[in-house]
Amino acid sequence: MARWAALRLRIFPRDNYTCRRCDRVEGDTSLLVCDHVDLHRGNEQLFWHEGNLQTLCKPCHDKHKQREEQ
Ligand SMILES: [Zn+2]
Repeated sequence: MARWAALRLRIFPRDNYTCRRCDRVEGDTSLLVCDHVDLHRGNEQLFWHEGNLQTLCKPCHDKHKQREEQ
């Protein structure tokens, strides 16, 4: 999705390529995840709202999602 790819590339530099959970700086954007703070549940406004997006490293993101699914 081109629009999403462009948005990610705005969020990562905004957060200085730093994971908001563990403060790890990750220069390789393939190891960063652009995560929704509040679940968007199909809500487009929430989905695209930059204030609802945060940078997480992959390990934190995966842990976080696992917890939510339990
Ligand atoms: Zn992290």
